[in-house]
Amino acid sequence: MANIEKYLRKTALPHIWCPGCGNGIVLAAMLRAVEKLDLDQKKTVIVSGIGCSSRASGYMNFNTIHTAHGRALTFATGIKFANPELNVIVITGDGDSTAIGGNHFIHAARRNIDITTIVFNNNIYGMTGGQSSPLTPQTSKSTTAPYGQIERPFDIAALAIAAGATYVARASAYHAAMLTDLVVKAIQNKGFSVVDAIAQCPIGFGRKNKMGAAEKMLQWQKDNAIVAQAAAKLSPEEKQGKFIIGELHHSAAPEYTAEYAKLIARLQQQKGGQA
Ligand code: SF4
Ligand code: MG
Repeated sequence: MANIEKYLRKTALPHIWCPGCGNGIVLAAMLRAVEKLDLDQKKTVIVSGIGCSSRASGYMNFNTIHTAHGRALTFATGIKFANPELNVIVITGDGDSTAIGGNHFIHAARRNIDITTIVFNNNIYGMTGGQSSPLTPQTSKSTTAPYGQIERPFDIAALAIAAGATYVARASAYHAAMLTDLVVKAIQNKGFSVVDAIAQCPIGFGRKNKMGAAEKMLQWQKDNAIVAQAAAKLSPEEKQGKFIIGELHHSAAPEYTAEYAKLIARLQQQKGGQA
């Protein structure tokens, strides 16, 4: 049994999340990963943007920073760049990471900077009132798409992979144990890692789309997930409306802060040779 209580900042609790919100399940799964890896709390930095999920940074007993909307990755990049020894984990939502922060997301992936990004993905802007995000599925309803979303959503995994992320995975709140294992691997990857964590928002998304209470939304996650290995054998039609869970991508590429350190060493060597 993981002892994750030590990672909670109890004076900041109770949390603000609605009953049945998936954010707490994702947060607990993430903390179990930190516990499994026995990360040094003093050398671990949690950076969050703005939104329901991003409030999580305030509940945790690490070095934490709650930043501006969409900008978590810019702060995280600066922190990692200033001290590459730190474990830097970003907590963000689907709107935060792919709309306001979309540009930062693709460039962090392109640089392959050693940051783990956990996207608490509830398909909606929860905190600001249930507006569509770039991950809201087509035909789903939101306060900004009352007749159904006509825009196509991003496939966040494909986006991250195409932009250069070296570790990409997905699980849901229902698959919390798998989520922990994937976050462990994401943190272990020396490069930019993305874990798409599907979390139910019974208030902002569930009510609008008549999905029922949290239990029903968790059941939906259970019924509509396909494990990556099984998905590889299915046709696009068979995968329609489903989501794929597990490890989706793992590759090797030079890491940004390591490359920068090499550049500095090379320049210092050249300078020393000239003296
Ligand atoms: Fe969770 Fe949705 Fe409530 Fe935000 S609005 S706390 S995401 S249930
Ligand atoms: Mg959201």
